[in-house]
Amino acid sequence: MTGGRTVKDLLAELAIDPETVLVIKDRTLLTRQERVEDDASIEIRPVISGGAGARRPRMTCRRCRRPAVIELRRHNAAFCQPCFTKHFRDQVTRAIKDFDMLEPDDRVLVAVSGGKDSLALWDVLLDLGYHATGMYLGLGIGEYSDRSGEVARRFAEERSADLLHIDLRNEYGFDIPSAGTKGSRSTCSVCGLSKRYLFNRVALDHGFDVVATGHNLDDEAATLLGNTLRWQTEYIARQFPALTAKEGLVKKVKPLHRLSERETAAYAFLQGIDYVVEECPLVAGNTQLRYKDTLNHLEAGSPGIKAAFYLGFLDSAADRFRDEVAGEGDLVACSRCGQPTTGRFCAFCRARAQVLGERLAWPADSQLSRELAEEVLPVGVYGEAGRNR
Ligand code: SF4
Ligand SMILES: [Zn+2]
Ligand SMILES: [Zn+2]
Repeated sequence: MTGGRTVKDLLAELAIDPETVLVIKDRTLLTRQERVEDDASIEIRPVISGGAGARRPRMTCRRCRRPAVIELRRHNAAFCQPCFTKHFRDQVTRAIKDFDMLEPDDRVLVAVSGGKDSLALWDVLLDLGYHATGMYLGLGIGEYSDRSGEVARRFAEERSADLLHIDLRNEYGFDIPSAGTKGSRSTCSVCGLSKRYLFNRVALDHGFDVVATGHNLDDEAATLLGNTLRWQTEYIARQFPALTAKEGLVKKVKPLHRLSERETAAYAFLQGIDYVVEECPLVAGNTQLRYKDTLNHLEAGSPGIKAAFYLGFLDSAADRFRDEVAGEGDLVACSRCGQPTTGRFCAFCRARAQVLGERLAWPADSQLSRELAEEVLPVGVYGEAGRNR
């Protein structure tokens, strides 16, 4: 492309919404008003999918008036690097406090995928002084998984942090691509339930107090939109940034829920975190992306609408759905693995049996039966964590 123009003009010609990308030159972020010369080489790194539109940014930091490196339309503000890092940490600290997510001595298991959100989360929790161990789940998705695992390992080494590596194929005999071709569930559905199951199970087995995931504001808003369009009130009731522990279910928290996908991408970049930029190659079937795309279109015309939708739900509407959780029946132990479930076998054991072509039955081995019977039966489902708001 011809240079001698602002980033804003270049993006307009490419019909790219500036809110959905980071523009990088020589390992520095460019704001929309910076000029790009003819011979310059820039990277336009996607942070979210879809969208269009632009608006005039402020070019100096809102806090200290130094030159800004990132503008956030939602906050009608721009920040320099140190002030943006502070803004990011402040949002995480506020999320943790608002929802009683973590105690200073908690042993936290961070679900790490190798992407920007989970590594940004792990980084910020370590910086805030939490005892945060990473867990990487090898999904067996070819080069994507190899690179993700490598990135997670390197991050742990650089930060001298502990990392647990669980491999789905080695430990459970199947991988996610094969799960998509066998059985009745979609690839992303088996992937999602495997992650939920294994992070919970590993956290229990290793004595962690809480599992933290890198779900950001865009993820939560898209999920809420999907749940609302179908009025899945039971799911809406559980869509909360902190779910308390019950027997068999470890506490789960989402400390990045106040931060957009673009903010987590910018934080990861500015902290020098090497993360996997490419999306999972199996993402095409993921319906959540369509909801993100729709919300990005709305956001382009009305900056802040996404945050108003999700954070407004937490403030004004979430409590109205709590009865759905309270009214739910007790959980029982899965007859195969002992993990909490509402039926005889848990979703993970059912999905795994389908993929492996096994028939599920009560354990024939009497020793195993005895061990399973001795597992503590969970007495309920996740409830709402306390809120100091
Ligand atoms: S896109 Fe689907 S298959 Fe890929 S990691 Fe996400 S949930 Fe799993
Ligand atoms: Zn500043
Ligand atoms: Zn099970």
